[in-house]
Amino acid sequence: MSEPFAIGRRGVMLVLSSPSGAGKTTISREILANDQNIEMSVSMTTRPRRKGEVDGKDYNFTDMENFNLMVNRREFLEYAKVFDNYYGTPAAPVTDVLVSGRDILFDIDWQGTQQLSEKPGDDLVSIFILPPSMKDLEHRLKTRAQDSAEVVSHRMEKAADEVTHYAEYHYIIVNYDVADSVAKVTAILTAERLRRERQIGLGEFVKGLRQGQ
Ligand code: 5GP
Repeated sequence: MSEPFAIGRRGVMLVLSSPSGAGKTTISREILANDQNIEMSVSMTTRPRRKGEVDGKDYNFTDMENFNLMVNRREFLEYAKVFDNYYGTPAAPVTDVLVSGRDILFDIDWQGTQQLSEKPGDDLVSIFILPPSMKDLEHRLKTRAQDSAEVVSHRMEKAADEVTHYAEYHYIIVNYDVADSVAKVTAILTAERLRRERQIGLGEFVKGLRQGQ
């Protein structure tokens, strides 16, 4: 008997957004470590590198001049100003990943998500992570000790505005517990991969079934 027709799939663009400190970086790392079929979109940013961050892995750190050059050449899928710095997603690596039938994970803010959702196609799946409380958020920002007290208070002020954008996302997770939130993101990804529109060649597959394959 001949091999059944293979079912391929289009990759998912999975966006995770949250106020800074709500746990999305930790959740993203776990997802990437557990799943070989998804990779991270590495953003460009004009913000200075934090202690422990690796250029080319956490971000591609650049200056305003180069960032503007990339904007003018339309090399970004989306870009935005967040906390006085610019952040953007280079388009070329995203296309490469999606074409290869793999998924790509974005850690971008609500402005970037709005820009992606305005683009044609239904590859986008967006998740907003909410902190269990503002007190919890402040505690996480203080204990990760990456930013000055001034930066932390600025981020807390911004968080109050950012959470109002939850309604623009497909899914909402309140991050009470990291392992539980990772399981929820994994469940969303599994379900979205199985959406009929994302599976290529179903018609041929079913035709094969009807022919007794
Ligand atoms: P951080 O400076 O803490 O790494 O990131 C600050 C914010 O910028 C986070 O909310 C993060 O999701 C967002 N961000 C990071 N990269 C991008 C990007 O490429 N585009 C947009 N729009 N936001 C980004």
